[in-house]
Amino acid sequence: MKKILVTGGAGYIGSHTVVELTEAGYEPIIVDNFSNSEERALEGIASILGHEVTCYRTDCNDAAALTDVFEKEQGIAGVIHFAAYKAVGESVAEPIKYYHNNIGSLTTLLQVMEKFQVNKLVFSSSCTVYGIPDQLPVTELTPVQKANSPYGNTKKICEEILTDLAVSGSDMRSIALRYFNPIGAHPSAKIGELPLGVPNNLVPFITQTAAGIRQELTIFGDDYDTPDGTCIRDYVHVVDLAKAHVVAVDRLISGKADNIEFFNVGTGTGNTVLEAVQAFERATGEKLNYKIGPRRPGDVPKIYADVTKATEVLGFKTTSTLEEAMQSAWDWQMHLQQTSSKA
Ligand code: UDP
Repeated sequence: MKKILVTGGAGYIGSHTVVELTEAGYEPIIVDNFSNSEERALEGIASILGHEVTCYRTDCNDAAALTDVFEKEQGIAGVIHFAAYKAVGESVAEPIKYYHNNIGSLTTLLQVMEKFQVNKLVFSSSCTVYGIPDQLPVTELTPVQKANSPYGNTKKICEEILTDLAVSGSDMRSIALRYFNPIGAHPSAKIGELPLGVPNNLVPFITQTAAGIRQELTIFGDDYDTPDGTCIRDYVHVVDLAKAHVVAVDRLISGKADNIEFFNVGTGTGNTVLEAVQAFERATGEKLNYKIGPRRPGDVPKIYADVTKATEVLGFKTTSTLEEAMQSAWDWQMHLQQTSSKA
């Protein structure tokens, strides 16, 4: 079984990817500093798989600790690098924290990988690199724009670092996956998103509102140039997104990948915020308390993916509907309610 190091493997997308990697026959090794994840993600993974997954409580900015992991786990075939801070608003307030953590962890990881001659990397990027795109849907050739937050800039800079490495003559092979909006949870409801405090993202805010934890959802603006005036996003089920990582690893291992490749990972369909709310209501039968509020500064009015490249090159295609994703997010919310009331 090929070992794949998964940094941030106890996080939201990381934990789902650990499950999919295992089911595809890989042996994931988790590295996580638990700054924005919880031990219970490991319990959830173990419960789904029927066995524990090796996990190191290690910070990717700590070169010595990361070196220890590579020394202990001989024969790592590749790395998926999720570990990063991801709150847009916080990144505006604390830019240095974001630059230090997100860029430092990548460069540290790359140095350690080079030392151990591990030359296959999947990097978590984001559609945020497209900024406010001039044309839709966005393809991988759509120009990358100036980022509108330090968080977004770290993704852009990390892509540039990998591109520089690719032209340097290094034997590193990198695939950057540009995620659209990951939502939902594993169908077992044993792992899912664990937002810290008040959620910034739409779907955890929806599920917490329906569960009575939040009073109401505020929809940020209904005066955009879209069919119902609310913003458009491409919501992708986190299990589909996790599977994109598996096919990216397959491609790297097969030796077919170029020095650096970029792929959009979305469904190819844009939905408005109101459509997302309606999908949640239809899927779950819950009525959501919401109001229309002012626009949120920095929001991109509309973006969704052209996924032709991922389909043709990786053989990737999403299979879950928006309703299924919403139902899974709700099942996970219910699981959280039950387990916290037992605690
Ligand atoms: N959104 C909203 N209310 C919320 C959270 C989000 O109306 O409480 C909207 C937001 O304006 C955007 C969409 O939902 O149009 C997705 O927002 P999210 O923060 O989940 O993702 P991102 O902005 O990064 O695409």
